[in-house]
Amino acid sequence: MLETAHGTFNVSTHGVDGPERCVSISLGELSRDGAAVRLHSSCLFGEALGACDCDCGPQLATAMQEVARRGAGVVVYLYQEGRGAGLDTKISGMELQRVEGINSYQAYAKLGLSRDVRDYRLAQVALTDLGLAQHVTLLSNNPTKRQALEGFGYVIDEQIALSYQVSKRAYDYLLMKHEEGKHALDFDKIRFVG
Ligand SMILES: [Zn+2]
Repeated sequence: MLETAHGTFNVSTHGVDGPERCVSISLGELSRDGAAVRLHSSCLFGEALGACDCDCGPQLATAMQEVARRGAGVVVYLYQEGRGAGLDTKISGMELQRVEGINSYQAYAKLGLSRDVRDYRLAQVALTDLGLAQHVTLLSNNPTKRQALEGFGYVIDEQIALSYQVSKRAYDYLLMKHEEGKHALDFDKIRFVG
């Protein structure tokens, strides 16, 4: 059990030992249809350091709040920095963005990388361990996460975007994710903070 500012959750690790593990942060009855699910990729800068150029920290907090508010759900925390490319690559990409005035997708292209190499298979291990029911509510605006969950056999009854309290810089990042990454976001709902 882990008491947090957002509620009291069960935490456990899943997968084999070593870096190939993920963490589930859950509460309530997951075996009943309708539980909320978020597949969350780690972002040290956004979550722990308060970085202003992305929305990862607020998204993680909002996801935990939403799970607590609904009374049943899980955040699967996956260690995949820099959209799966690793922290070294992320830092190289950030510097390229700064120097050349380009976005993160363009920076990854310049580095010869795919824009997003995240792998969600470990989340399937966690969700199976937890006995999650087949019908779920997805807490994400990312079409790739939707496809991943559907690929695992889950049925998404409802999809809720979380990215609605952001800094101006994070707003630009969201706009790019929306336009280039096809993230499902309603920009009328976005409010600036900080
Ligand atoms: Zn981030």
